[in-house]
Amino acid sequence: MTSRVPFWLDQPDAPLPEPALTGADAAELAVIGGGFSGLWTALLAKERDPARVVVLLEGRRIAWGATGRNGGFCSASLTHGISNGLDRFATEIDTLERLGRQNLDQIEQAIVDYGIDCDFARTGELSVATADWQLGGLADAAAAARKLGGDVCLLDAGQVRSELNSPTYLGGMWDRDGCATLDPARLAWGLRRACLQAGVRIYEHTPVRAIEPGRRSLALRTPAGVVRADRVALATGAFAPLLRRLRYYVVPVYDYVLVTKPLTAAQLASIGWQHRQGVGDSGNQFHYYRLTADNRILWGGYDAVYYYGSKIAASLDQRPETFAALADHFYATFPQLDGIEFTHSWGGVIDTCTRFCAFFGTAHDGRLGYVAGHTGLGVGASRFGANVMLDLLSGERTELTELELVRTKPLPFPPEPLRAAGIGLTRWSLARADRNGGRRNLWLRGLDRAGLGFDS
Ligand SMILES: Cc1cc2nc3c(=O)[nH]c(=O)nc-3n(C[C@H](O)[C@H](O)[C@H](O)COP(=O)(O)OP(=O)(O)OC[C@H]3O[C@@H](n4cnc5c(N)ncnc54)[C@H](O)[C@@H]3O)c2cc1C
Repeated sequence: MTSRVPFWLDQPDAPLPEPALTGADAAELAVIGGGFSGLWTALLAKERDPARVVVLLEGRRIAWGATGRNGGFCSASLTHGISNGLDRFATEIDTLERLGRQNLDQIEQAIVDYGIDCDFARTGELSVATADWQLGGLADAAAAARKLGGDVCLLDAGQVRSELNSPTYLGGMWDRDGCATLDPARLAWGLRRACLQAGVRIYEHTPVRAIEPGRRSLALRTPAGVVRADRVALATGAFAPLLRRLRYYVVPVYDYVLVTKPLTAAQLASIGWQHRQGVGDSGNQFHYYRLTADNRILWGGYDAVYYYGSKIAASLDQRPETFAALADHFYATFPQLDGIEFTHSWGGVIDTCTRFCAFFGTAHDGRLGYVAGHTGLGVGASRFGANVMLDLLSGERTELTELELVRTKPLPFPPEPLRAAGIGLTRWSLARADRNGGRRNLWLRGLDRAGLGFDS
């Protein structure tokens, strides 16, 4: 029987919830959302000023959203990969790469400083080609990464198979330093503990229903209370935004994941994987996979499913046809593991925007800051985004607030029914390109020209 609870959250030592808010509270900074974005914002605010009164409001449980459901790839990239970064932010990509590496180093240091046991391992990431047309893209990405200081090497079919043994691999690229794997729920629970120890007041099961501007503060209305705050950081990811304008910039896209039973020593030996890198294949519809600390394989991605009207519902967390396709692809990649069982299956929503990396802004006369749009690569970048939000809320000009990445916004999505039609056509076209040697049809070429194209 497969558990429908995300593997990371399905742990006997998960912390008990903090109480919900009843009555009134007041804060200098209120953070809405208890995923990585919100947790880092609260913790970094306390690091900057330990005396600051900080409150965090989470509608469900800490890490209930994307933060507790992801692949646990903690990447240095702030731009969803170097190719996307070069396409969109060519003039500042060297700065963004430097800031991204610094951010990953600081995450590693914070995990040590706060004593967070989250299986952080800086194993790097292996990008593998499973079709000839993908090899050129990997060579280009490797050259660009090396030019910007990345510790990256190209591998031929034999070399990549000696890292991880799949008959489907034709070549690969190993970024040795730009990515770590970790247990995301344990990182979130560790950040939660660090926040509490620093004096952050956390309320779980406390959804904010409305933000009302007052003369001196913003009032956050919850089912049984209110928080009045001088400043508010909005970190609600893909979920129904409390700020109307965000509805045009972010759509929730479902991504699905399987986890196997722990591999036996013989099964592990049959595939190799001594360096335990996170792995991604290089199609437009790609899979990502990695080992867990107890040697299961987490296997996710491929289908990215948008439901009409930006629907989010518990019933959509399971999608049998996607799980069946993922399982087929898994066994084709690792025939040595034929028949191994999957113990967990789940889905989660990704806050997708048209530029595939986060955007930022303020509202209510600079009293509210927001970040959204990490598009499936926010485990690492969420800490950077938290620093950006705090800088924006400070009202000061900093290195971060002056970045083009921070000053510009993605193109908005059209309203329904165009939204669903456009996303559906894009998905169909990307699948077709994968079957046709990577050739992009008229629609994808048009999106590329408009700066909306995505080449994974
Ligand atoms: C299946 C999947 C796989 C992924 N894999 C990776 C990966 O390997 N690497 C990577 O870098 N990224 C990955 N991501 C993305 C990554 O998980 C996120 O970018 C990251 O966790 C940052 O999340 P967040 O805090 O912005 O949002 P979330 O974790 O979704 O947190 C938002 C929180 O806000 C709360 N909330 C919403 N509305 C309200 C409200 N009105 N009041 C109070 N609280 C509210 C929600 O309950 C939620 O807990 C993946 C995502 C998914 C879904």
